[in-house]
Amino acid sequence: MSTTKVREIPFARPWITAEDKQAVMKVLDGHVLTHGPECKNFEAEFSAFLGPDAHSVSMSSCMGALHVAYLHFGIGKGDEVIVPAQTHAATVHAVEWVGATPVFADCDPATGNMLPEAIEKLVTPKTKAISVVHFVGFPCKMDAIMKVAAQHKLKVIEDCAIALGARLDGRHVGLWGDAATFSFYPVKHITTGEGGMFVSRHKDVAEAVARLRAFGVDRTHTERAVPGFYDVPSLGLNYRMSEMQAALGRSQLSRITENLKRRKDNFEALKKELAGFKSGHLLDERDPRMVTSPYCGCLILAGALAAKRNDFVAKLNALGVGTSIYYPQPVPRMKYYRTKYGYDAAKYPRAAEISDHGVALPCGTHLVPADMRDVADAVRRAATEVLG
Ligand SMILES: *Cc1c(COP(=O)(O)O)cnc(C)c1O
Repeated sequence: MSTTKVREIPFARPWITAEDKQAVMKVLDGHVLTHGPECKNFEAEFSAFLGPDAHSVSMSSCMGALHVAYLHFGIGKGDEVIVPAQTHAATVHAVEWVGATPVFADCDPATGNMLPEAIEKLVTPKTKAISVVHFVGFPCKMDAIMKVAAQHKLKVIEDCAIALGARLDGRHVGLWGDAATFSFYPVKHITTGEGGMFVSRHKDVAEAVARLRAFGVDRTHTERAVPGFYDVPSLGLNYRMSEMQAALGRSQLSRITENLKRRKDNFEALKKELAGFKSGHLLDERDPRMVTSPYCGCLILAGALAAKRNDFVAKLNALGVGTSIYYPQPVPRMKYYRTKYGYDAAKYPRAAEISDHGVALPCGTHLVPADMRDVADAVRRAATEVLG
């Protein structure tokens, strides 16, 4: 069988329109490039999209938002934070930066999410917080997780980097816990190049974090009583978003309904196309209480093909289908973490299965449902060729 490309289907492409470009250029034509009205408006519009009790703080990245979340809650040395083994390094790095100890939980093999039962088993007298990640657009069981948190008086930080648009019982993810973070990295649901959002249901938390991310200063330059004069009431960092980024974010957010619909339609089409595929299955969540917001098609290979994941990926790429791996290593197996804490493979078999036997297929806004047939055809061809 030949491996001539049918066509190029990239894993992801940022969706940038003429309006997006105009919005950024308009900022550059003015004089305010940072802490101005674009950031304020982006924060207000992002809050409005999430729900009536959301308070948003624009950030330079999701990683920065996670960092200030732990700083704000005073979590540090001697404290334990329960984190998913299957996530981006940033989720856990934030815990490390404040000096706390991450305690890893394995995931549900069907969705990649941490399960409330697994979290509860890891609680010790030192536990101070739970870090929840809504994996590839599937909401975690937040009602049950919040019960565990309430019982043990734990803070809950939701990493929503790849879950914009996901809801449980009508409530957007990120509005269940004490704080939440979003990412606008180019391949995420919406983009500002680099960028992120800190969100909390609690206004005082959002206000304190707004200071933390801006040198500890509580007023922007336009709000100062005496021009040029400001005092610094607390310690802080500079994790601000620029006006160009915020303008891009607002323009992106204005198309959010269409964006999420495209992803969902593509995911459903891919699911249908791969229904008869014997050598793997897509991670999925069908709980009727949940609105999922598919980020990619996470195909978990089975049987003989699982052992040949890398060959399969190479073949798929040669056929023109771009792929990724979410995420390439369970975090406790990454060199930094395994060196510091040791790695016990028996503890995270599900997280390892997703890293070692998984391949992320495209379903982004750059594609339409009809493209999913080509993706699925390539999957079947690659599988046949690899299995010989
Ligand atoms: C991408 C990602 C991050 C990091 O986001 P940045 O905005 O690049 O800092 C954090 N957590 C998860 C789950 C991610 O997928």
